[in-house]
This record gives sequence, structure tokens and C-alpha cells, in this order.
Amino acid sequence: MEHKHNIQQFKGQPRLPKSAVPRRYDLHLKLDLTACTFSGTEQIDLSIIEPTKFIVLNSCELEIHQVWFTNSLNQKYSPCEVVLDGDDEILVLVFEEALSVGQGVLGVEFSGALNEHLKGLYKCTYVDKGMKKNMAATQFEAVDARRCFPCWDEPALKANFKVTLDVPTELTALSNMPVIEGKLNGNCRTVYFEESPVMSTYLVAIVVGLFDHIEATTIDGVKVGVYCPVGKSDEGKFALDLAIKSLDIYTKYFSMPYPLPKLDMVAVPEFSGGAMENYGLIIYRENDMLYDELHSTASRKQRITIVVAHEVAHQWFGNLVTMEWWTHLWLNEGFATWVSYMVTDILFPEWKIWTQFLQETTDGLCLDAQEQSHPIEVDISHAHTVLEIFDAISYEKGSAVIRMLQGYIGDEVFQKSLSSYMKIYAWKNAKTEDLWSVLSEESGIQVNLIMDSWTKQKGFPVISVKSKDRTLEFDQAQFLSSGFPGDGQWIIPISLAVNSYNKCKNFLLQSKCERVDISELLSSSDNSSSSFEETNQEKNDKNLWIKVNVDQSGFYRVKYDDELTALLRKAIKNNFLSATDKFGILDDTYALCMAGSESLSSLLSLMDVYRKEVDYIVISELLDVCYSVVDISRDAIPDLVNEMKEFCINILLFSAERLGWDPVPGESHLNALLRGKVLMALAAFGHNKTHEEAMKRFQALLDDRNTPLLKADTRRAAYVAVMRNASHTNRKGFESLLSLYRESDSVQEKEHILRHIASCPDPDIVLEVLNFLVSDEVRDQDIIYGLYGISIEGRETAWTWLKDNWDSIIGKYGSGVLHSHFFISIVKPLSSNEKADEVEAFFESRTKPTFAMNLKQSIEQIRIKASSRRSVSWP
Ligand SMILES: [Zn+2]
Repeated sequence: MEHKHNIQQFKGQPRLPKSAVPRRYDLHLKLDLTACTFSGTEQIDLSIIEPTKFIVLNSCELEIHQVWFTNSLNQKYSPCEVVLDGDDEILVLVFEEALSVGQGVLGVEFSGALNEHLKGLYKCTYVDKGMKKNMAATQFEAVDARRCFPCWDEPALKANFKVTLDVPTELTALSNMPVIEGKLNGNCRTVYFEESPVMSTYLVAIVVGLFDHIEATTIDGVKVGVYCPVGKSDEGKFALDLAIKSLDIYTKYFSMPYPLPKLDMVAVPEFSGGAMENYGLIIYRENDMLYDELHSTASRKQRITIVVAHEVAHQWFGNLVTMEWWTHLWLNEGFATWVSYMVTDILFPEWKIWTQFLQETTDGLCLDAQEQSHPIEVDISHAHTVLEIFDAISYEKGSAVIRMLQGYIGDEVFQKSLSSYMKIYAWKNAKTEDLWSVLSEESGIQVNLIMDSWTKQKGFPVISVKSKDRTLEFDQAQFLSSGFPGDGQWIIPISLAVNSYNKCKNFLLQSKCERVDISELLSSSDNSSSSFEETNQEKNDKNLWIKVNVDQSGFYRVKYDDELTALLRKAIKNNFLSATDKFGILDDTYALCMAGSESLSSLLSLMDVYRKEVDYIVISELLDVCYSVVDISRDAIPDLVNEMKEFCINILLFSAERLGWDPVPGESHLNALLRGKVLMALAAFGHNKTHEEAMKRFQALLDDRNTPLLKADTRRAAYVAVMRNASHTNRKGFESLLSLYRESDSVQEKEHILRHIASCPDPDIVLEVLNFLVSDEVRDQDIIYGLYGISIEGRETAWTWLKDNWDSIIGKYGSGVLHSHFFISIVKPLSSNEKADEVEAFFESRTKPTFAMNLKQSIEQIRIKASSRRSVSWP
């Protein structure tokens, strides 16, 4: 198209020009849920900052019918050109004469379709008295408010929002603020909402549907409503209670009250992520909000607690104080993740949730050990790439470096700093350096000097520790899973304990190498020793040990010399170490082994030391390592894979026998969690006795859906056994599982079945399952569960299937975050360089900016596995 005016200057830009900025939106939307369309009008109060002939804002897949601008003198202007640019998702309004500096109102009339892609303003379906009906919900983060109404769709351009909706009379309409009034108008009701305080566009939300609801009020008078599918309001009680308690805790922790008059939480039938923290209206996928006291698992209870605490935390971290640009996304996600663990720990101390936090940290470490990782503060050059950074770096590494910093600064100063930060930046936007400067001021430590090395460069260090005389030698190098050396360097808060957790030392490792005298720590237990070696000799029977990165509070790995390793192994055996340290030693050894800097035999002999372990988090880690070594041995030493499975089974038998299949009345939450995990692993490794018991109990379930023999927590183990025993000639178990899926009304039960239905060793069944997963029987949002369980024997079939169906898959799942799961579950599990080449060749002409980084990471992961496979040798 030929344009009279040069709009080329606005294309390909990461940010909108700031010659005009919005102050307030008055937005009126009419929804037609039968035709699946909407129309809208908006009046946007603008400030023209500098004289301009152009107003440039965001708009995507909307039709624009009318546009006008009125200045403060009430002069009306119509644009001479209205250009919609689909690539850059911008709407450029060109005026004949320059608009002058001052206030004005931009009016737009527009319309659009309720899409099926779970973003922008989208359609989802629910069943009401046997009839399939439509409802509408929104998901705007990161850059999809522009699909609902033309707007300045950037987090820094905060404005007030006055929302009005025309909806069918029988449906509930929700938005960020409370309803002022509803006016009937035939079949339609006009619902007027109060005007919001200033907020970013990605936090605006609308839900129109049929719900049952419950509510309660906090001690500060905030009304909290929970909206559930009809007939399921009981399942919202747990989340309601969590929200009330979380609001109270955050109000105190941040010394800042919840700023809106109400907070609603709603579970919608289709949602791409887990939950979204829209201001005053948190939207969840049903699995992550609904809890059924009788039928939900212990792990579901925990997941819901963390998700609710996370989303409520965002009402402060994210919504009240918002990142200035997506580069600082981690300020939202890292903090919400970290603080959700704090709240969970307050509400359920018996869950020892901070020990489980280490599993999050491990996810961050895994991704960040790749060349294709990115810094926490990442350059965002185009809106299309924003969704890719909602990953383990922003969430898990982000929260881990926060925990590391908090440990270094101390809890009290940290909390005080956060509450000052909230006061200074309330209703505004902040950058990473803004937080550092508040923390520096309160703590007297130059925080940015330490933290820049963690947030501005990718990767993390491995610290090699050697003992010599009465000193320890520390040497840092970048850790990469490939085993290649990286050139990063960090300022590292190091903690170490010698022989006891009462004898700790903290220091900053600021250079590549440093020697640290520990005679003080050694001599306080034995004054007569003159050297570390001697002490070691003398102390051997008294069990000397040295652990670096106490409680795994730092985001780095540690490699000990042989002598220190042997001492630690002994300390683990004698149970002198905390669960978190036992976790850390195993996790570090595993990662070093995969990178080729420890032998497989040393890993296996370490695993053997954990045989009698009883702590949840340590056994969970042991399980994960078992799964990995079985997988890697399948590629590296296929003849011995059964022997490896046998080895893992033997290590796990003590826990399996201790826990059994049946819950024990009054047992701990962690035992309930662990039972399912251990049995599931034994089923996956083909343990005969577990299979026999699982099949017996599965039959009991088929005979009686309420059998006490197969409770929610152990069902998944039974499903694994069923699918591991299924084949194209023995379909009975598989078909029974499919019927359970089809008849179940519980989203959580459906999730459990989907998670394991692809775990069959027979590739023919895997292929059948893959086609089932993308059929109408499985909601798009649930694809993530089904892909998760694909058996290692089925991975080649899955890869061929993915190539054959790529166009339809990207069409159906490609517009939000769901498609990333095809990379995680189908591409990443491949493990040879030939496959990596094949993936590269296949995507050469198919790569899109929305998944380019994800794809590169997946390919690197395949190559890392290929090289691990060469470097691991059978002991
Ligand atoms: Zn979040």
C-alpha cells in the first residue's frame, strides 16, 4: 500500500513514540457470545507532549470504523489516513496539521472477533445442563490488550480505566473494579464498573460467564470473591481462604495496604498459563484454583497454595509497582515467585517449602547452563519475543538470586528496603537499578556492584574447592552443561560450614581465585591441630566435613576435591547434613557428571549413600537423578539399561516399603507427596511387585470409582503401570484409562490421566495418543499435560508426528505459550547430533520470532545430551 505520509519511521521499533501518551481510557464493549464478536467504543484522554502529525498506538486484528481527536479547545480533527500495520501491531493516525501540545481526547470505534487462541479477548466454552455454551475471558499479558481495544500497550504507559460492558442478562460480568450498576436493556445488560486507579494495559481484565461464587472479607475490609464453575463453589473455599490470608500477610510485609476495594478470583474453563494476576481480577485455569478436600492430591493442594500466593503478591509486585519495560520482567516474576514461598512457609510450615524451593532453583540452573540462555535483564527488541522470556530465567533464576541477596543482606533490612521501594514507586514503574539503589541505601552495601554480575550477564559459576593446609582454595569458572569453559565471572556471596552449622563463614568471592584461612573454624574444635591434613586425620572418626553454599542459598554449583568429597559422603551417611545440603551435593554431582567433569561411577556411588534417606526433598532429587541416569544409559549403554533400572529400584525400595500404597491417618503432607512419587518411579522402572499391586488396585478402581484402594495421591503411579503394560496387542488397560478420562467430570482427574497416557513403550500407542491429544476431546490448554508424559521409546515417533503435523499444530497452539510445550516434550528429549541436525534443517524455513530462542535452546539441549552420552562411561 502506498502512503501519502512516511509511516515507515514507526515500523520495527521496540517501543511506541512518546509524542502522545494516554491518561485515561473510557472503554465500552458490547459482547455477542453467539456470533463470537464484539464491538467497542473508547475515549482516551491524551497528553500531546510535542507537536505531532501522528498518533501511534497498538492495535491487532481489530477493525477500525471511526477515529476522531478533540483538543482542549473542543476543536475536532479527523485523521487523513488511518493505517493498521499487522506486522508491528500498530495503528498510525495521520493528521493534516500537527496537533499542538496539551490535553485532548481520542475517540475510536472498532470491532473484533472473540478468538479461540486464549489471548486478547477470547472465547471459551462450558457445558450448562448438557448444552455447550460460550463465555468470554481475557489474557492480555504480555502484549495482547491491543487485540481487545486500541491502546498504548506498554507497561510504563499507565492510565485509569473506566470499563462498561454490554453482556447477556443471564451471565456474570467481571472486571478489575467493582460494579457500580447494571441496567437492563432487552436481552442485554449494561454493566458499569468503577474507574480504576492507574495501571498498565496488560493488567486490564474482563470475564463474562456463568459461575457460582463465594466471598469473604479481609480484616482490612477488602472484599474477596471466588468464582467457580456452576455447582463447584465448595472447591473454591481453599483458594478463598488462601487469598484472605495472603492479603493480610503482604499488607504487613510490604507495610502497604491492598490498594483496590475488591479482589476477585475466577477459574475459567480454558486458559493458556496457570493464572494471571490482572489487577483486582485474578484469572486461573481450573486445575490451579479448584481444590476438592476428598479427591485432590497433596501436590495439588501445594500447587494451588503457591499459585494463589504468587498471584496475590503481584497485586503489589507488578501491579502497584510495575516493571518499566519487559527487560525488567524478573522484578515481577522473580519476586512473586520468591515471596509466594515465604507466604506458603508461613501458612504451612510443616511443608518445609523452602527446601522445595531448591527444585525451582535447579530448573533455573539447568536452563542457565546453556550457551543459549539469556541474562535476567534481557534486551527486548520486539513485542513478538516477549512471551519467550516468561521462562526459568525470569522466574526461577530471578527468585534464586533474590534469595541469595536476602541471605547476604539479612531478612530485616531486606524487608525494610522492599517496603520503602513500594512506597517510592507505588503507582509508578521501576527498573532493576531502582530496586538496587533502595536496597543499597537501606543496607549500606553497594548492592548493584554484586548484583549486576548476576542480572546483566547470563550463566552462573561453578566453584572448585580444594583443601590445603588450614586453608581452602576457591576458584570460579562459568559452568556450562556442554562441559566447555565459559568466560563469565561473578561476585559471589559464599557461605561455608565446617563440621557444624554453628560454625559458618560468609565472604564475597570477588576475583577468580581466592584462598581462605579456616584455621579459626578448625581450631575452635581442636586447638592442637596444626594443619588441615592433620586435623582431618585426627578428626576422621569424629567426622570432619566442610560444606560450601550452606543450605544451597547461592545460585552456583560446587565441585570439591577428592578429599572433601569423601568427607561429605561420610557426613551424608552419618546424617550430619541438612536436607537442603544433601540435596545440593547430589544435584551438583549429577550436573557435573552430565557435563563430563565427574565420572558416572562417582555419581552412582553417591546415589547409593542415599538409600536410607527419609527426607522428602532429598528423595525427590534422588528420583529425578534416577530418571536421568536411566535415560542417559539408554542412549550411552543400551545393553545395560535394565541393570541401571535395577540399581535405581534397589535404591528406592527402602522408601517404597516405608510408605506403602495406603495413606496413614494423620501422616505428614510430605509423606503423602512422596508416596505417589516413589511408586510412580518404581512403576516407570518396571518394578514387578509395584506393577502387580498397581494393576490390582487399578482393577479395583474400574470396579468401584470410590474404592479406598486407589486414592488420588497414588493414582498416577497406577496409570503409569497400566500404560507401561499396554501395547497395540494388549489395549485393555489403555482403553480403560481412556474411558475413565471420558467419563470424568473432574479437571484434576483428567489431568492425571493425560499426564501418563503417552507413557506407553509401544510407539503405535504413543502415536494414537498424540492424535487423541490434538483432537476435540482434549481442551487446547490441556495439551501441556498430555505431551509431558511421552515415553522415551516413543520419542522418535513423536518427532516424526510433530513434523508431519507441524502446520496444523502451529495453527492451533502457536499463538500463545502452549506451543513451547511441543519443544519441551518432543524436541528436547531427542539425544543425538543427527537428530539435532534434523531439527535444525526442519525448522530452517519454519522458525518464527515467537519461538526462535526456545528452538535454539532445545537444539542445544539435544547436543548436550549427545555429548553426555559420549562422556559417560560405565563404571
Ligand atoms: Zn507471575
